[in-house]
Amino acid sequence: MIDFGFALTPSATLQIDNLDNKLFEQLRNIEPDVAKCMACGSCTASCSAGNYTELNLRKVILSLQRGREQDTLNSLKSCMLCGKCNIVCPRGINTRHLILSICKVYNI
Ligand code: SF4
Ligand code: SF4
Repeated sequence: MIDFGFALTPSATLQIDNLDNKLFEQLRNIEPDVAKCMACGSCTASCSAGNYTELNLRKVILSLQRGREQDTLNSLKSCMLCGKCNIVCPRGINTRHLILSICKVYNI
């Protein structure tokens, strides 16, 4: 391996080979659109709850894809299911429905 004189800290390193993504696969089976997310952040920018809480839907989806759901799942409890994120998503993801499916699959 090339030594660049710096290295990623373990907490910033993603061990893809060790990913346990069973729950994410389960989510993708019932909500295939989750794979369309391009992490643009429009949902997060439009979220009213996000102005006052830790809720960040973009971050939640990324953490699910990376098998690090424990980092963000609790924040979904602040979601009011208002649907604003649904309106702005450029990929046409039904984010409101996705949030409900995440709660079901990850049991929150
Ligand atoms: S549905 Fe939830 S995540 Fe989406 S904008 Fe409303 S409060 Fe935010
Ligand atoms: S607006 Fe849609 S594509 Fe963009 S981060 Fe949110 S869910 Fe993903």
